Amino acid sequence: MRIGCGVDVHELVFGRPLILGGVRFEVDLGLAGHSDADVVCHALMDALLSAARLPDIGELFPDTDPAFEGASSIALLARVAKMVADAGFTVADCDITLCADAPKIAPHKREMRENLARALGVSPEHVGLKATTFEGLGFVGEKEGMAALATCLLAE
Ligand code: MG
Repeated sequence: MRIGCGVDVHELVFGRPLILGGVRFEVDLGLAGHSDADVVCHALMDALLSAARLPDIGELFPDTDPAFEGASSIALLARVAKMVADAGFTVADCDITLCADAPKIAPHKREMRENLARALGVSPEHVGLKATTFEGLGFVGEKEGMAALATCLLAE
């Protein structure tokens, strides 16, 4: 087995869509970024790439490359899953924590897990997802941004 972890942070701004786990939330604040800034997918991609000892998403999909402007991160996650498979690994399990004081993800959690699982080619049973608030503290609590942490287990 191989283990990997990934962390990502994006700023919350007006005038951007909020996309988390491939689901669009109809809210005023969205995440800023070169791609669609799906912080959940970004943390998970880095966990997978790290476990497979492949280059990280900053190297693979640089924010200086116009090809990735507005890119769908769930599509990039599927590309990463293919690279991990090509390197000889299968995704055994993964777990993600979204750090956000709003919005509540509970109504969309199932759809997010299904999107992530589809991109990975695994059952949703193998995609853990939860959110935590920062109780009003720090950049998450002040709604200046969101963070995500991901862990995955790959089988050789
Ligand atoms: Mg990112």
